[in-house]
Amino acid sequence: MPGFVDTHQHLFQYMLRGLGEGMELWPWLSDFMWPVSAAINLEEAAAGARLGALEAARSGVTSVVDNHYAPTDLDSTIAVADAIQSVGIRGAVARGMLGELTEMARKHGLAGSLFQYTNAEELEITSAAMDQREGQAVGVWPSPLNIIYNDQQLVHDAIVLAHERGSGWHTHCSEAETDPVFYLEEYNVRPADWLYDEGLLGNGATLAHGIFFDDREVERLGETSTGIAYCPVSHQYAALGVMRLRDLRASGAVIGLGLDGASGHRLDMFACMKQAILLQRAYHKDPVASNAEEALYMATRGGAEYMRIDAGYLAPGRLADVAVVDLTKPYHAPRHRALASLVYTANPGDVKYTVAGGKVIVDEHGSTEVDEGEVAAEATARAAELVDRAGLDFLLDPWRANSLDT
Ligand SMILES: [Zn+2]
Repeated sequence: MPGFVDTHQHLFQYMLRGLGEGMELWPWLSDFMWPVSAAINLEEAAAGARLGALEAARSGVTSVVDNHYAPTDLDSTIAVADAIQSVGIRGAVARGMLGELTEMARKHGLAGSLFQYTNAEELEITSAAMDQREGQAVGVWPSPLNIIYNDQQLVHDAIVLAHERGSGWHTHCSEAETDPVFYLEEYNVRPADWLYDEGLLGNGATLAHGIFFDDREVERLGETSTGIAYCPVSHQYAALGVMRLRDLRASGAVIGLGLDGASGHRLDMFACMKQAILLQRAYHKDPVASNAEEALYMATRGGAEYMRIDAGYLAPGRLADVAVVDLTKPYHAPRHRALASLVYTANPGDVKYTVAGGKVIVDEHGSTEVDEGEVAAEATARAAELVDRAGLDFLLDPWRANSLDT
């Protein structure tokens, strides 16, 4: 099959795998993810990215958009790109920018410590990182981290930078139900409408989540063929809501699947395909709301179109990004339809070979590019230091007592 395209990741979060389970969104951010973002250093971010990228390659992912947001100095951004490239996959480090603390961010209690750079510095660092990665398998994209809380001028300038270089750009958009509400209150316009009015949709625009769009936004996202990362596992894990998949696909928006950091606990595009379907069916109480063909399409071709790479097809002249999946194990028998086996039955352990750009990067013995034991050992050692420095010991209880206990 064509290699998977993971359209929204935060690879460094794999350093925190297994932590923060069962928390409300606000403490999850303020007591867990923000302290980590403030504490994490270059070596830790690179170790996490390498671990995540290795897991990606092992599970048949050949391309990833890594929305990297901590730390985001030039050296760390480049180190993360190097770490991803070291396992042989291609991709883009979408360098998360917060810029100057906005009134919106202050009003809604976002951690001020995250806003480290001026808008001008953010653009300067991103531009320098894009220069350094020009022409490499893992490049850099501008990424105003969350359009709801970013300064509008920074968003505008970041997108102009992407357009000048012919690169994609990335942001979180309307992920929480309150996002468009707050935006409307502050700016008197909905976020996707603002992008449309400014002529900033399409042309490399990729929006993560996009759960809460109204009808006009859906129409405009389709009209401009804007890319949207559907992240069904994180949408369920964080109890965010259900994306308007039917409406967005019908409008012409380009939908890929994304795993969105460590909230899925396993970097697993097979599980993501299955969840992409089941979530839509349960929500709409409609067994034909999505299907295996659509899930495989989004996980491969949709993602390739979103990243504007010539992949997602097994055909002469296309990028040779391929995953070879073994469907001969007993739990695949009887294999009436390979498609159903791939989408509903297969797991990352079934991936036998991964090929990126015509090069075998995973074979039956594992990664051909890096020492897997070393990658895991380094990440494990550095993760312990990070958890300690970020003050996350309180998350390590083996059994957290709560109201759901029986
Ligand atoms: Zn995200």
